Amino acid sequence: MASERQILVGSVRIGGGAPVTVQSMTNTDTADAEATMRQIRALYAAGCDIVRCAVPNEAAADALREITEGSPVPVVADIHFDYRLALAAAKAGVHKIRINPGNIGGADNVKRVAEACLERGIPIRIGVNGGSLEKALVEKYGHVTAEALVESADAQAKMLEGFGFSDIALSLKSSSVPLTVAANRLAARTLPYPLHLGVTEAGTEYGALIKSSAGIGSLLLEGVGDTIRVSITGDPVREVKAGVALLKALELRKGGVRFVSCPTCGRTQIDLVGAATEVERRLMDKNWDITVAVMGCVVNGPGEAREADYGLAGGKGKAVLFRKGQIVATVAEQEMVDRLIKLIEENEGNG
Ligand code: SF4
Repeated sequence: MASERQILVGSVRIGGGAPVTVQSMTNTDTADAEATMRQIRALYAAGCDIVRCAVPNEAAADALREITEGSPVPVVADIHFDYRLALAAAKAGVHKIRINPGNIGGADNVKRVAEACLERGIPIRIGVNGGSLEKALVEKYGHVTAEALVESADAQAKMLEGFGFSDIALSLKSSSVPLTVAANRLAARTLPYPLHLGVTEAGTEYGALIKSSAGIGSLLLEGVGDTIRVSITGDPVREVKAGVALLKALELRKGGVRFVSCPTCGRTQIDLVGAATEVERRLMDKNWDITVAVMGCVVNGPGEAREADYGLAGGKGKAVLFRKGQIVATVAEQEMVDRLIKLIEENEGNG
């Protein structure tokens, strides 16, 4: 169920059936434009479609002009508490503003931000977060519920609509996976706006990947959600790689290498873990639209390997290489990874 409406963030479409995009957030000091630009370029290289920068003070707002002019992807300004920073960000030419109208200091301030964005065609994302939900709603529902999150988003969107502003995206985030899923399902059913999906404060990498895959993944499989951020404590490049991998796993993003390897078992007689890790590492950043299988043995190995565009199936001290279902070579274990990569490069070019 694609959102009814679509917004344009720079040149990137969100919602209304547009391809699902991957977002991340810089963790440099935004006021340090050079360091922020360096990180944005790294995020872009990893597959990021839209990048968000925190704007906690005037120095950060001042740096936004240079950042938005130099960025290879649209830039979103993340603003809390001070509407003047939102006005400065709009003036600096950012491509979207993320605010929580509930904490920007009253309807007059929200109106000023809406007017500045309307004038420049800048969309606004209303970010509703379980951790900062209005007290009145928590009291009304007894605790943070999906209905409370949606009611908050709806009320804030109505406030913007009341000022003639409708270029809106929503996010309804929580650190609870079931609550995030329920809130976004309800929002998709009842509100017309594009949805930015994420499980917030998801934790360090291992837990974050599980929570985000479960939460974002189940929504996207139902057709709910238009853009995603995988939140991981740490390097945002990891977030982007995880986001892109998640979209590929859900077959929502094409291109790049799909990698298959068996879990290993008592039949494995080669160093499959080493081979699979090395093959995946060497193919990770390639743009070839291919499936590569690295399998431990001949029981399932050749079958999977034949289904793939390229494959390797291990034997005892040796492996068989396949290309499009045909055996092309039997090679020694020590050279199987190099030979597989060479075979792919010979046929696919430099990636
Ligand atoms: Fe075991 Fe072979 Fe299956 Fe790998 S492909 S898990 S080695 S049976």
